Amino acid sequence: MKREFLGFMVLVVLLFSCKDNSSIKADILIVNGTVYDGVGTLPQSVAIAIKDDKIVWLGDHNKREVMATKTINAQGFVVSPGFIDPHTHATNDLDDPEHSHNKPFLFQGVTTVTIGNDGSSPYPLSKYREACEKIGVGTNVVTLVGHGTLRKQVMGESDRQATQEELEQMKDLMQQELNTGAFGMSTGLFYAPGSYATTDEVVELAKVVAKNNGFYDTHMRDESTYSIGLIPAVQETIEIGERANVPVHISHIKCLGVDVWKQSDSIIKIVETAQQKDIDITANQYPYDASATSLKAAVVPRWAESGGSDSLFIRFQNPALRSKILGETQRNITRRGGADKLLVIQAQDTTLVGKNVLKIAEDLGKSPENAVFDILKTGYIKIASFNMNSYDIENFMVQPWVVTGSDGGSGHPRKYGTFPYKYRKFVKQQSVLNMASFINRSSSKTAEILKLPKRGKIREGNYADIIIFDPINFSDNADYMDAFQFSEGVVYSIINGKFSIENRKFTEKLNGRVLQR
Ligand SMILES: [Zn+2]
Repeated sequence: MKREFLGFMVLVVLLFSCKDNSSIKADILIVNGTVYDGVGTLPQSVAIAIKDDKIVWLGDHNKREVMATKTINAQGFVVSPGFIDPHTHATNDLDDPEHSHNKPFLFQGVTTVTIGNDGSSPYPLSKYREACEKIGVGTNVVTLVGHGTLRKQVMGESDRQATQEELEQMKDLMQQELNTGAFGMSTGLFYAPGSYATTDEVVELAKVVAKNNGFYDTHMRDESTYSIGLIPAVQETIEIGERANVPVHISHIKCLGVDVWKQSDSIIKIVETAQQKDIDITANQYPYDASATSLKAAVVPRWAESGGSDSLFIRFQNPALRSKILGETQRNITRRGGADKLLVIQAQDTTLVGKNVLKIAEDLGKSPENAVFDILKTGYIKIASFNMNSYDIENFMVQPWVVTGSDGGSGHPRKYGTFPYKYRKFVKQQSVLNMASFINRSSSKTAEILKLPKRGKIREGNYADIIIFDPINFSDNADYMDAFQFSEGVVYSIINGKFSIENRKFTEKLNGRVLQR
């Protein structure tokens, strides 16, 4: 027995030494970098060989011959899995030949973005996928099916419960859209028409997602005190996860407005209790203290806009309804901290941009709630709403189940800055997170939530989505006054084994893929 074992060991050693002698052929070899693999808590000094679209070898390049077409000396730089963003509004960029490069995200170190969040997705997804693939995309793309989108297809904007027949139609559409390779469903229960849906309706649709091994992503019904309240909204999310037996993911977790500040402690307890009951619940968070949304969604009562914008202004003409609408609008403004906390960041009338609602109201000589309807008549208005507390932001950020998500859409600096802003402020300046926690919460943990195989970790056999950044000047440049400034400090970005950023410059190559579940 002993001799046989010895013989076996000799064979193993021989096999290994044989393997060690063969040289490795690679397209790219990264050496001398400080490597964070996306999982561990400490960096390693390990060389990385990439061939075609995969990582083919990790090891000590002084002990093994690697024949590489190109070698990168990453001395002094951090090597990390490319960042994965679980919540963006890059939808209309990616199927537009002018913007499908996705540079705002690319320069943050993001190599995969998710679209179709907040209950709103392109319909049908098959067509969207085709368009993206035809023109090429700068980053990988994960798609979700928007519940609001399906509801609109079946029931329009009507504010009522779905009939059994309508629900069946939505379930069929859900399956149809998941068949295109979407990773799950999203809801926007705060927004019309998602807000008109009952929990039961959402559960029935989430069951279809569960059957397809997807996940449920939500902009919850309430992040403040608008309707059911923040904590009941978290409880609704957990209920959906439990009843549909689906992993649930809270998007942009926050305590929005003074009324709910410091509720993060209670929410963390509720989430941990659910996790102990084996409910798979996670969240993403952007690190800013202002949220961005449409002015209408922020301050106009939901019932008043039922049926669309025209219906809103028709109701507004009715004196009885008008005073009710104005009263509730005023309360919503107060809930968000006052009209001076609502900064216009996008408007067709560009003279409004950069002004807060209080200033605009003063210019018009009207009360803020009255001014809101003058402003809304000019078209779509996006605002930054300064209503989060640093206590809650940091409290959520350090939880092991909270990952980075930009929620990046035009006008708010988070589209161009989220990941480097989080690094600069919360890793470098305030030490809320260390480097490994920041990276792990921006790569492998996110990949696990999205159920994205072979990405988010530096591992042999995984796709080569790798970034190399300069820890000294990895930084955001976008702010509320100029939200369209690219971030800096990403020296290389490799997506599917090809350079997208080389020596800090965009290579003009569209190396992304629309990924399949
Ligand atoms: Zn949202």
